[in-house]
Amino acid sequence: MKIFNTLTRNKEEFVPINKGEVRMYSCGPTVYNYAHIGNLRTYIFMDILRRVLKYDGYKLKGVMNITDVGHLLSDADDGEDKMAKAAKEQKKAPEEIAEYYTNIFFKDIDRLNITRPEIIAKATDNIKEMIDYVVELYKAGYAYETSDGIYFDISKFKDYGKLSGAKLDDQLAGARVEVNSEKRHPADFALWKKAPPEHIMKWDSPWGKGYPGWHIECSAMGRKFLGSHFDIHTGGVDHIPIHHENEIAQNEALTKDKAVNYWVHGEFMLVDNGKMSKSLGNTYTIDQLIEKGYKPLDFRYFCLNALYSKKLNFTFEGMDAAKTSYARLMRLLAKHKAAPLTDKNVTVYMNDFEDAVNDDLNVPLALGVLWNMVKEAPSQEIYQAALKMDKVFGLDLDKCDITEDETKEEIPQNILDLVNERAAAKAEKNWTKADELRAKINELGYTVKDTKDGAVVTKNQ
Ligand code: AMP
Ligand code: ZN
Repeated sequence: MKIFNTLTRNKEEFVPINKGEVRMYSCGPTVYNYAHIGNLRTYIFMDILRRVLKYDGYKLKGVMNITDVGHLLSDADDGEDKMAKAAKEQKKAPEEIAEYYTNIFFKDIDRLNITRPEIIAKATDNIKEMIDYVVELYKAGYAYETSDGIYFDISKFKDYGKLSGAKLDDQLAGARVEVNSEKRHPADFALWKKAPPEHIMKWDSPWGKGYPGWHIECSAMGRKFLGSHFDIHTGGVDHIPIHHENEIAQNEALTKDKAVNYWVHGEFMLVDNGKMSKSLGNTYTIDQLIEKGYKPLDFRYFCLNALYSKKLNFTFEGMDAAKTSYARLMRLLAKHKAAPLTDKNVTVYMNDFEDAVNDDLNVPLALGVLWNMVKEAPSQEIYQAALKMDKVFGLDLDKCDITEDETKEEIPQNILDLVNERAAAKAEKNWTKADELRAKINELGYTVKDTKDGAVVTKNQ
């Protein structure tokens, strides 16, 4: 498999550290609110990567964290903790908020056929590992204490900025007026925050009561479950400049060597070509899409039609198109499912499919291969090949049985009227008129065939 590595800015051949096994960490959700379709696009990308690796025969050990403390309003160290803020606003305990949104998150990813990583790690279950990590960084000379916390000293880490390619001097020039004057460099970040008395979520530490920084959570949990050198780390592109840059600093300050071999990032989803934001009212959830008449897998299909590495613009026209194509794909596939074995050779399709998904997860191209295959004459071999491909697509292609009603629904009334008119013309032996009507039906995108049971009309593909 080839995959684009943000660290080297190159599409590289994937070589695992241990033969036949992949250890992969994925930044998970901050559970203070519903996941929106943009967040879910990132987990669909994670899932596709997992599925391709599995398809290629690797044994997977995936970890995803659940951030239930420490993610402040800005990805750097400003503002309130997102969990604490939600708890205050909703007059609930932070644990209740976390449990509620975590459950909904899992319901959403299950409905989208996103396979769950083997290990799900809650930040609040791993506070000890985080404190130990901060102590190690402190002892190694990479951290210093201020009146409000323990900070990572980026001037000690010479590779700081290597993931995003940002230069420290540029960051200094671009930095906003510094709020925390005790920091040595504006980009130094909190490893641990000391909690003011009114703060709800806090734990004992060598520096009094406090809570972990968001970045240390991922470094500590990654090391705990995957070791200090593992294969792949995923997340959304917004994590590149701060969160992942900081993770690399924390990791490599201790390992003195590369801690993660491949950093892979999913591009953003836009809505109407703009940013998704609550204030614009355009952050849809899966439940909202369901209310509007879409199935969760219509959304998955919509996402699979774009490369993970390219921005994807969400529109309802786009969703309608996805819904229609996905339904048509299922209808075509149903014919193959019902068909007998035909000695059809599907090797070329399977090879093209495998080449596509192994080429930096080119799922849109792989879907094109599936489409070309299902347009062929009905054959059980094609159905079986589609099921193999579905190990990567995750589109429930085995559920493609169609009911009589669905077939009828697909043909619009004006076409059915023309078909009836043609039947009448034939009954009158008016062959010219019948042929004209057949041509007209064809022009409108349908084909009418005469069978012993009468005329059968199908949509042209
Ligand atoms: P959060 O719960 O805010 O930590 O975000 C969860 C995941 O969603 C992270 O990996 C983000 O990078 C990703 N994400 C946030 N907004 C978008 C978006 N508009 N499109 C795609 N991914 C996003
Ligand atoms: Zn993370």
